[in-house]
Amino acid sequence: MQNADFPQNYLEGHRNWLEGLSETESSLYQKLGREGQTPSVMAVTCCDSRIMLPDIFNAGPGEFFVLRNIANLVPPQGQDNGMAAAVEFGVNAFKVQHIIVMGHASCGGVAASAAHFEAGNPSDGSLTLSWLSTLKPAYEASKAKTGGDDKDFSTTFEKQAVKMSLDNLSAYAPVEAAVKEGRLSLHGFWFDIEAARLNYLDAASDSFIPV
Ligand SMILES: [Zn+2]
Repeated sequence: MQNADFPQNYLEGHRNWLEGLSETESSLYQKLGREGQTPSVMAVTCCDSRIMLPDIFNAGPGEFFVLRNIANLVPPQGQDNGMAAAVEFGVNAFKVQHIIVMGHASCGGVAASAAHFEAGNPSDGSLTLSWLSTLKPAYEASKAKTGGDDKDFSTTFEKQAVKMSLDNLSAYAPVEAAVKEGRLSLHGFWFDIEAARLNYLDAASDSFIPV
């Protein structure tokens, strides 16, 4: 790997970004480098390039502890040690007070899993499909909810996937303990890309409402 292979506009972009940092921003990076991070929020979101997290919360460096994967999935406890380790670290070491799971509109991962399930869940040996098969319970719940109406299915499925991940997350041992102690709460979000608008999962109505 050589710098020459990397798009020059991004290297130039970094230099411009660095030059454009205000004194306050530079001081913040120095402080974070010296003293370490103390994020209060952990976020699980999709790898999708359109999700600019933590920017869409207008948050800066040091505030969000972020974990990304295809389709912002939290598998059931015991299925993904990388996920479990990050959650354990966030909850026990950083003592984050909030964990958010953020899905989004036109999620390619969720759509691919739907096509996969429609086709009868054939195994093609790919790690992607193996990973996405975790979504099966959310897919079935969404099918039941939309009653075969495909019009809103993808959105319903994306939101149901967030709920499923939150359910799985709540059963992780460190999360269960911290929630019980009243020092951690879980939140669901769904990002409408076209509107650049965040929607949060309202517990009372069990629906996603614009922030
Ligand atoms: Zn996605």
